This record gives sequence, structure tokens and C-alpha cells, in this order.
Amino acid sequence: MAEKILIVEDNPQNMRLMEMTLRGENYILLKATNGEEALDTARREQPDLIIMDIQLPGMNGLEVTRKLREVPAFSRTPIIGVTAYAMKGDREKVIEAGCNLYLPKPIDTRKLPEMIAEMLCQRPEIISGLSGDSSGRQESSDN
Ligand code: MN
Repeated sequence: MAEKILIVEDNPQNMRLMEMTLRGENYILLKATNGEEALDTARREQPDLIIMDIQLPGMNGLEVTRKLREVPAFSRTPIIGVTAYAMKGDREKVIEAGCNLYLPKPIDTRKLPEMIAEMLCQRPEIISGLSGDSSGRQESSDN
């Protein structure tokens, strides 16, 4: 079954670029243009990966990411945080909010599909690795 990717982006041109970039891949693309819509769509559709613009009107992408991470169903969903201008400290803020990866714009449209594919295929390993670990290792710093 095709995986679902939720694109959260308020700028129509950037949204279009994302869609064009991912259209050739076998994904179901979901779209949201603000934080509330992103949360509603995520709850309803349970996306497999989320691309999160950080600069959004109203609730910003950092807040949306924090709210998503509070929901158990989204605690492990890969989230890519995207910012319009790389400001000092952006990466730290984006990762601290709960994103797995930080991407400054302009997006490298050749690399994005690879990164997404990689994040989606790593996910089951992470999950099975955690639940099926019978090696007795207890020191994982999973916090
Ligand atoms: Mn924006």
C-alpha cells in the first residue's frame, strides 16, 4: 500500500514544488496550509511521514511538531522540518521541537525523494528493533 506523506506548507509555490518533486513517487500526498489543518489531517489520515514548514501563519511548525509528538500515534512518525532562511540556531530549534531532520530552503529537489525513501525504510527497523530486542541491552537512551 502506498505510504502517505503530509506536506505542511503555506506558500502555494513551495507547495507546488513539493508536489512536483514527489508526484512521480508512489506516495499518497496530503496537504495542509496551516497548523490546525496539519493536526486535523494528521489525526484523520495517520501519515507515514510529515514535511513541516516551520514558518506558518498562526501556530508555527515547531508548535505543530511538539503537539504531534505528544500524541502516541505520532511519537515515531518521521518529520522533516523545513525553514525559509537558515538562521543561526534553526537546526537546534527544529530538532529540539521533535523533527528528525532539518532542511533549509531552497529544497534540493533531487535529494528530497532519496531522503524520504530512506526515512520511510528505516522506520520499520527502528520499531522492530525496539520491540523485538531480546539481547538484554537496557542502556538505550531512548528519552
Ligand atoms: Mn511558510
